Amino acid sequence: MNTPLLQEYIERLSRLIQTESRSNGLPHNLQPIQLNALHFLTRANRYSNTPQGVTEYFGFTKGTVSQTLTTLENKGFIKKSPDKIDGRKVHLKVTRRGDTLLKKTMPSPTINDAGKELTKTQQNQLIDHLKQLLVEIQKKNGMRPFGVCKTCNHFQTKGKEKFFCGLTQESLNKIDSEKLCREYQHTNFESNTNS
Ligand code: SF4
Repeated sequence: MNTPLLQEYIERLSRLIQTESRSNGLPHNLQPIQLNALHFLTRANRYSNTPQGVTEYFGFTKGTVSQTLTTLENKGFIKKSPDKIDGRKVHLKVTRRGDTLLKKTMPSPTINDAGKELTKTQQNQLIDHLKQLLVEIQKKNGMRPFGVCKTCNHFQTKGKEKFFCGLTQESLNKIDSEKLCREYQHTNFESNTNS
């Protein structure tokens, strides 16, 4: 494999996205890291929309996560709500103000526009290959995979838009099925997923 070339493309893409994210966050005085955390929280399910979920997803230190979440909360982009069962745990919910900001900035308009120049098959292949690479890196680093719920090994369909998690033994709805989960378990590699 031509690893230097692959790395170069990934780094250049990352830099372009970071630059765009920096300029999107500027009017709100938000750093890319804060915008990315906000984006994660809007996609995270109820087992993952916590400070621990943010820490695990990004691999940030607890201090960085704490500062990031405090900034987002102080600016009114997220709000904390206590867990109904475990009072020590808090869930981080994206507010309407946060949603409005994300709609304008995520997904990246640059990637969106450039991606439209690829055929549907090329788009799906690109997503599959990048996902495969990410999965292998996560396996080697012992990181949680955080996949989309409906492609998880524990996901069960119980009826029309009625689903069930075999791990937590809780019911899931259509919205839950599209979210990212820290407890996600890979099945065999799936095609055309959108994690
Ligand atoms: S089915 Fe998998 S991804 Fe979905 S909630 Fe359960 S453990 Fe998480």
